[in-house]
Amino acid sequence: MPTIPMLSRCALVVLAVVLALVPACLAQPQLYVNGNIYTLDPENPRADTILVENGLIASIGSRDAVREEMRNQGFRVYEEVDLKGRTVIPGLIDAHGHMVGLGAIGLGLLDLRASTSFEDVVNMVRDRASRVPAGTWIVGRGWDNESWADNDLPHHNMLSEAVPDHPVWLSRVDGHAGLANAKAMEVAGVSGSTPSPSGGEILLDALREPTGVFVDTAESLIGRHIPDGLTGDARECILKAQEMCLAVGLTAVHDAGVSPEEVEIYRQLEAQGLLKIRVYAMLHGRAAAAYFEANGIYDNFKLSVYAAKMYIDGAMGSRGAWMLEPYTDRPTDPEGRPYSGLAVNDPSAIEASMVHALNFAYQLCTHAIGDRGNREVLDAYARALEATKDSRPASFVPRHRIEHAQLLHPDEIARFAELGMIASMQPTHCTSDMRWVDARVGTERAKGAYAWASLLKADARLAFGSDFPVESENPFLGLFAAVTRQNLDNQPEGGWHPEQRLTREEALRGFTIDAAYAAYWEDRAGTLEAGKLADFVVLDRDVMTCDVQAIPGTKVLKTISAGEVLYEAE
Ligand SMILES: [Zn+2]
Repeated sequence: MPTIPMLSRCALVVLAVVLALVPACLAQPQLYVNGNIYTLDPENPRADTILVENGLIASIGSRDAVREEMRNQGFRVYEEVDLKGRTVIPGLIDAHGHMVGLGAIGLGLLDLRASTSFEDVVNMVRDRASRVPAGTWIVGRGWDNESWADNDLPHHNMLSEAVPDHPVWLSRVDGHAGLANAKAMEVAGVSGSTPSPSGGEILLDALREPTGVFVDTAESLIGRHIPDGLTGDARECILKAQEMCLAVGLTAVHDAGVSPEEVEIYRQLEAQGLLKIRVYAMLHGRAAAAYFEANGIYDNFKLSVYAAKMYIDGAMGSRGAWMLEPYTDRPTDPEGRPYSGLAVNDPSAIEASMVHALNFAYQLCTHAIGDRGNREVLDAYARALEATKDSRPASFVPRHRIEHAQLLHPDEIARFAELGMIASMQPTHCTSDMRWVDARVGTERAKGAYAWASLLKADARLAFGSDFPVESENPFLGLFAAVTRQNLDNQPEGGWHPEQRLTREEALRGFTIDAAYAAYWEDRAGTLEAGKLADFVVLDRDVMTCDVQAIPGTKVLKTISAGEVLYEAE
């Protein structure tokens, strides 16, 4: 059995050791004074002063109480930072996002992950080329021939005909191969007679001409001609996404579906001191079992690797979500049979993954959108818990998750708390989808859509995220959506199914303490209290009391993680 990710008591000891390694510039304690601080700690909800030492909150409370404690503990030298009355909240955590995808968009790269054929890819590149001057590099990433109808690796011919005047470089989803068009190979001076470098290959066709596919080290033959920071590799994307997240007050993200190669990139970034945001990574389900058997789990406060991601169904927008009853606006398929969506995995496969995760002490996070999909995942979890009650490590507290949980039958609401299943939900999905959900499933079933208040009332844990880049990474849009269930034009009046709106505090908990709980981080993050990481954000307005319409426009002035200022507004 592997070691257990549960940290509880000994966590802070380990943490103190880890943080003893922080840069010397942080050795001097910092005293943040004159703040309007929301701690989310029920025992000490408001404060004006925070003392930070070695990356941890050493003390928090009123100025007098903190100074008293400092005197008692003999603090003499410290740096004082005046918060000037600004609002401070715990560092925000996005419990479901996609870092590589976000970074790709931030870098202006074409995101090719949704392509279902090479023609698709060519069309996307042609479209981009029509909007940028000839000669400009077009860089994309994420194509996967394994998810196309024709699984063969592509040949550049069709691409080069469609886009003759722009050099094009398209990284495969795993980053271990890329496709160049003729213009890119011309710029790079590559032909059929160019030798393949060691550790790589220039693939050739039957005529001994390059197919355009460059494998591993051969990728650099093209890559070195691409402007800096645009080669589309996952590392660049992660660094860009990190910058974007820190700028909106996120100190941590749960990356919902990464490959073992991406875990390796995270570990390298961490070793190089470049990983600034905390990352909880969910491994792709198909890779997870073998990965955890070979590597065990990993956690060092910047990077946590003890979760896997599976899917039971598709999405409601494309009617792929698995429903108990047929879709209201498409009750039958073209053959006239009742149509209620799709299972992308058999529930028995989900159950088998859950059993493996329980026995190896990691989490399974299962994407479930439709009411049938959610019921099947909860049923599978009940069976898996029963099946492993004697085999799983005694000290492991199971904490599996459902990602999205968008449409719930009333019978399922109470089962989240009963089973200890976390509902990992995205408020902005609600306000994007509400235009068509009533039509798709009918008004009666829609009462169980994005049922945040019902879940909280039934004592479920509600972790909030954005699913970036599907939605914006800005958590203040999520807060606004959760408390209003309105779009940014304040429609519909009063909010869509307003009985499911949350208070600001409930919504903020979803992006802080409950997102921390969903990652087993509740002893280190999510609230501002002594002994926890000094992760907090300074805001330009009081999001807990301002006019509700002002929440989306909130600007982050500073993002601080382990006492280090990682983002500061100009
Ligand atoms: Zn997602």
